Amino acid sequence: MTCYTSPLEPAVQSQLQGREEFLWLNPSYDSSAAPQDPLFDIATVRRRLERSAPLLVRLFPELKSCNGLIRSPLIALDALAQRLQFSSEDGAWLMKCDHALPVAGSVKARGGFNEVLAFAEDLACQHKIVQDQSDLSALADPEARKLFSDFTVSVGSTGNLGLSIGLIAAALGFRSIVHMSADAKDWKKRRLRLHGIEVVEHAGDYAEAVAAGRAAAESNAKAYFVDDENSAQLFLGYAAAAMELFTQLKEANVIVDEKHPLFVYLPCGVGGAPGGITYGLKQLFGGHVHCFFAEPTESPCMLVQLSSGNTHPISVYDVGLKNRTEADGLAVAQASQLVARVVSKLVSGCYTVRDDSLFKLRYLLSEYEEIEIEPSAAAGILGPFMLLRTKAGQEYLKTWGIEGNMRNATHVVWSTGGALVPPEEQQRFHAIGRALWDRS
Ligand SMILES: *Cc1c(COP(=O)(O)O)cnc(C)c1O
Repeated sequence: MTCYTSPLEPAVQSQLQGREEFLWLNPSYDSSAAPQDPLFDIATVRRRLERSAPLLVRLFPELKSCNGLIRSPLIALDALAQRLQFSSEDGAWLMKCDHALPVAGSVKARGGFNEVLAFAEDLACQHKIVQDQSDLSALADPEARKLFSDFTVSVGSTGNLGLSIGLIAAALGFRSIVHMSADAKDWKKRRLRLHGIEVVEHAGDYAEAVAAGRAAAESNAKAYFVDDENSAQLFLGYAAAAMELFTQLKEANVIVDEKHPLFVYLPCGVGGAPGGITYGLKQLFGGHVHCFFAEPTESPCMLVQLSSGNTHPISVYDVGLKNRTEADGLAVAQASQLVARVVSKLVSGCYTVRDDSLFKLRYLLSEYEEIEIEPSAAAGILGPFMLLRTKAGQEYLKTWGIEGNMRNATHVVWSTGGALVPPEEQQRFHAIGRALWDRS
């Protein structure tokens, strides 16, 4: 007997409880909503990341070949699409390869780097080490390092955000602390410690690690806490990816307009990365881009938050789920309230993916495209299936009058992490995926 009334619709509640893979369409989606919050100034962030390029080459010699620009390739996924029985009638498949972002190896790179660089620049400006808006390479000078060594930069994370924040903070000379949840993978902790980053392990989930980090930083005037649940600078750094995709689509002669819809499938944890990217894409493409968030069946925190009506915080525990998933990058029980508010009219819908599907899709991507990612990052691959092969997806296409344009459509599957995963871990993922695939 349940003693509480769920704020979710019974049909949604029952699909969640059954751990079904399903697409939830956002009734608040407004195709004409234009995100123009003056709080979120993406142009300033893009300029900061560009001004940081010479600095990043000094800090990370491996960035020489890309001139210090944190960018990822956009590639075709023809072989995988074909293997999954999609044809040219269904549109073209592309993958935005953020798993290959340099240094941090995940979608967290732009957000994390932007926030730490903004903090470092502020400090350096106050101490007259750099001028406002100048090239930031002086942040690697001994004078700046000495200044930074007095400050601590900390963060709570299931892993990848810790790697992004920790690596850039340590490279700049900050003391760096990463608070990690129980689901954080051992290799991520080892990698952090190898770079002189302090790892504090917590027995609880992601939200508890964030809360512990926040509390520890509050008692220290020289501590800066990167707050994954509330940070505008992280969100903005993620949003900078939109312009990158815009330019890449243009260079590839991909048209996006009324008759050529663009669909983007984004793995979602707390919501910052997919939310920021969606915000940026909506500014550039308006109603011609359709963004869907992908979440594990055990941790669909944004689906739960938005489908509850989005008036009060609600977690996946509140609807009887456990937040237990192999997709450590997505193992978040409670969505960011900031992001849920900002994307409430911008995101077209959310869908759920089972862990075994993540492993199978990761395996197929490796077999057919020779791309190695982490399980979390495979969540986007189920997107075209959800849109084109489910009743809810068909309904979406009808509602927005685009069902006749699908042969002109572009599907962008956002791959969010994997480059730093050790080879033996990748082999383990591969074996699990192959066994599951062979059995199905
Ligand atoms: C963090 C992460 C995401 C999602 O980002 P959020 O800001 O937590 O929503 C997706 N994939 C991977 C691999 C990640 O590490």
